[in-house]
Amino acid sequence: MTAFIEAASPHTMNTYGRLPIALSHGQGVRVWDVNGKAYLDGLGGIAVNTLGHNHPKLVPALQDQIAKIIHSSNYYHIPNQEKLAAKLVDLAGLSAEGGKTFFCSTGLEANEAALKLARKFGHDKGIEKPEIVVYEHAFHGRSIATLSATGNKKVQAGFGPLVEGFIRVPLNDIAALKQATEGNPNVVAVFFETIQGEGGINAMRNEYLQQVRKLCDERDWLMMIDEVQCGMGRTGKWFAHQWAGIKPDVMPLAKGLGSGVPIGAVVAGARAANIFQPGNHGTTFGGNPLAMRAGVETIQIMEEEGLLENAAVVGAHLKAGLEAALAGEKGVREVRGHGLMLGIDLDRPCGVLTQRAADAGLLLSVTADSVVRLVPSLILTKAEADEIVAILCPLIKAFLAEPVAP
Ligand SMILES: *Cc1c(COP(=O)(O)O)cnc(C)c1O
Repeated sequence: MTAFIEAASPHTMNTYGRLPIALSHGQGVRVWDVNGKAYLDGLGGIAVNTLGHNHPKLVPALQDQIAKIIHSSNYYHIPNQEKLAAKLVDLAGLSAEGGKTFFCSTGLEANEAALKLARKFGHDKGIEKPEIVVYEHAFHGRSIATLSATGNKKVQAGFGPLVEGFIRVPLNDIAALKQATEGNPNVVAVFFETIQGEGGINAMRNEYLQQVRKLCDERDWLMMIDEVQCGMGRTGKWFAHQWAGIKPDVMPLAKGLGSGVPIGAVVAGARAANIFQPGNHGTTFGGNPLAMRAGVETIQIMEEEGLLENAAVVGAHLKAGLEAALAGEKGVREVRGHGLMLGIDLDRPCGVLTQRAADAGLLLSVTADSVVRLVPSLILTKAEADEIVAILCPLIKAFLAEPVAP
């Protein structure tokens, strides 16, 4: 039964550095592996399992949907597409301006659609070589275009030539953004994550977001906010940029939107809602009945159970607990993030902590080499947050006490 987890997988491509663990089932924020070992799930499938595992309302709804129809085709109307699209536009504050949504199945696809929207936005106003501003340390996916927008040489290595038309700038530096785009008539959009996930839990400051919004308005650029990881309630608002009181023109979503069922979406305000015309874009699986039901039910359950507030309250509790338990540790640079999207930045690479935490019964990930990332389900309780602190912080302290390899 467990032989396949001992060695490298013989038949699947070698694309992931996997732990020797295979999960069998879950309940709430707990999961069990095929050997019966239990874990507290601090990763939530990488910010995907919004409602945890085996949610008592989501599971029967999905069973009902599967029995009715799983997939039809975008040749036909899919009623829950309209329902979910209207809801997302509303949550984004874009209803009054006639916002619209496009559905796909993954984060990179949502970003790919956003990039195509930006290019066509440019072409429609006579810009033949549109350019898009992107950021250092950004992660937008692994298609050729989205990896070109990604600010990580490791992700790009071996896949050149990259797609052209990107201008890269540092985070939170409005002067650098102005300088990088000065006198360039080809700029059509600014594209970023409100809180960078893979890049190490790096947030855009509210003031900077407001400055970028103003610049986009003045220069007729699209403000495109990748909320694939930080969106869908994780920070305590539906979308993380809402803490700055701004609205995007284009907003890709995915990860947590279907609580585990693959789904992606691009929500657009007035300036981008009507750019695509029949034939410009599409995808076979996008907006299929199962994914749409998952999205509709996920949002409804989040509202019924007050999960935005829970993410804010339990997230603040978790952050305070981590800070208190790690206070005075010299190797801890910072505990940062918002709501249930937290990173513990250490002064050295700490990839070994993923295995050590798993051994101790806690799932998490390490990103950007030295940042321990926690993105659990939004149903996490304060008691469960305390458990995370109790398991994780002694491991971090013991790790930091080890001599650093030469
Ligand atoms: C995960 C992620 C993506 C890519 O999503 P996939 O579903 O893996 O293609 C894009 N942007 C951000 C911010 C992400 O966190």
